[in-house]
Amino acid sequence: MNISSKWGVWKDAPPAVAEQDIKETIDCDVAVAGAGIAGVTCALRAAQNGLKVVVLEKTARWNARGGNIGVANSKYMRSRGYENDLEVLAREWIKRCASRCDETVLWTYLKNSEEAMDWLLDIVTAPEYGARPELQACLYRGETYLERFGSHRIFDGPMAKKGMRPGASDAVYAMYTESLKLGVRYIFNAPAEQLEKKDGRVTAVLAKTEEGYMRVRAGKGIVLATGDIGGNPEMLEDLAPLAAGCAKQMYTPKGANTGDGHRMGLWAGGAFEDAPFPVMMHPQGYAFTNYCFLFVDMEGRRFMNEDNNIQGKCVTLRRLGMDYAWSILDGGWAEKIPESLKYGGGIFWGTDHGPDEPWFTVEGTLKRFERSAQSGNMVEADTPEELAEKMGVPAEQFVKTLDEYNRICREGKDTRFGKRKELLMPLDKPPFIALRFGPAVLAVVGGLRVGEDMGVLDEKNRPVEGLYAVGNAAGGRYGVDYPMVIPGTSHGTALTLAYVLGNKLAE
Ligand SMILES: Cc1cc2nc3c(=O)[nH]c(=O)nc-3n(C[C@H](O)[C@H](O)[C@H](O)COP(=O)(O)OP(=O)(O)OC[C@H]3O[C@@H](n4cnc5c(N)ncnc54)[C@H](O)[C@@H]3O)c2cc1C
Repeated sequence: MNISSKWGVWKDAPPAVAEQDIKETIDCDVAVAGAGIAGVTCALRAAQNGLKVVVLEKTARWNARGGNIGVANSKYMRSRGYENDLEVLAREWIKRCASRCDETVLWTYLKNSEEAMDWLLDIVTAPEYGARPELQACLYRGETYLERFGSHRIFDGPMAKKGMRPGASDAVYAMYTESLKLGVRYIFNAPAEQLEKKDGRVTAVLAKTEEGYMRVRAGKGIVLATGDIGGNPEMLEDLAPLAAGCAKQMYTPKGANTGDGHRMGLWAGGAFEDAPFPVMMHPQGYAFTNYCFLFVDMEGRRFMNEDNNIQGKCVTLRRLGMDYAWSILDGGWAEKIPESLKYGGGIFWGTDHGPDEPWFTVEGTLKRFERSAQSGNMVEADTPEELAEKMGVPAEQFVKTLDEYNRICREGKDTRFGKRKELLMPLDKPPFIALRFGPAVLAVVGGLRVGEDMGVLDEKNRPVEGLYAVGNAAGGRYGVDYPMVIPGTSHGTALTLAYVLGNKLAE
């Protein structure tokens, strides 16, 4: 890991808040810090179980973003004829995370995600919200990177009708509204800053409000749901260097998630999962699609097997220090892309649709190309030399790379990077096209060490009594990489594990 000269500045605990600065004390059963998908889920479920819940939120409202919520199964999925084998998912997940995820946490998610999704869908499809679920079918079809159905989207809810991206916003809005009905108290513009311990147990959380500090004492537990470390440059540099230097950071609201829960947990005796933390990155920083043909760097050289998954493409670019690369297509794209989709595919490989929609259309692809061209992320030319000039890469090297690539394709054996022969299609039909693509950080999905009940653990894996973490404040789910076995599991694990915790706190 890249240890910066400022290593650990974020680790220092602040001085304790003086008693006279605490202007108000509230008592409840459960105090939740953070009103994102994890915090709101936990708050609602705990309230449904009869607990008195207070939620402290740093910003002025609840927060959500993104479209996919990935779970292992659901009633809705079964009704569409899809069912996953949990053991297959677990084995693939562990393999893709190089055995660094916590198998107990993973299994808590796998075993409970169906119940959590059924519960959520019952809420969002109620007449008051009127939303409609749909599955996402942008599956990679090869055997190398197993990708399964399980990603749920929520369409036509009140937030989507207001213009927000259909998905998590309607899930969080509906859960938030339901939790208000059960008396959950939300205190906005109230960042949680410190935890208090009594006789070894975490008993209260202190939040800063306009009036001064507020102490929220919680008899059953304090839940850290403060999201990721993406808004904290020092933590990023120390704990997630791949994310730190990424040119495109997509998290909203910008700067809200500064790893506050991570640090409060640490100061209270908790430990982090091993760094570097896994980073959820998608190659959507520039053009939305990149396919699988020929990728070249700014020197005009090929640098990887283009038949890789969403995460793999991003990690490779980041590791090589590239903000973006170019994906090359030719005038035969309308035949070559659908041919490639028999063997690969995925969101940024041109597929992003429901199970009953076509996997590829010329019109849809042209629309994407148009958007990319308008944003300066697609260039087109009649010759490879002209294309190189428009990309800003050395023409001589690019032509050499293209010739070599076409030779490999004709021979049907990728002696350079081992791409499957089915995907070796020569690019020799003008016009030549180049799409600029690059990684964007969506979230840093690593955090506090937790047990299967989401209780925070110390360095020796002993519980820090009274303290829990969910969502991106919690570690254990991935360990080393964000596996797209099912797209959308950052939401799916946040939802499921917070739902499980909302039940556990009532036991
Ligand atoms: C553009 C984009 C698209 C995405 N799409 C998807 C997708 O399709 N599927 C998917 O699974 N994931 C997606 N993600 C990632 C996903 O949004 C997050 O992983 C997920 O929201 C994490 O949930 P959370 O509850 O842990 O954190 P958040 O949703 O970030 O919520 C944390 C909350 O805590 C608050 N907070 C922070 N510090 C404090 C404090 N000190 N005190 C009180 N409150 C605090 C924040 O303001 C925020 O409201 C996407 C991310 C981006 C940026």
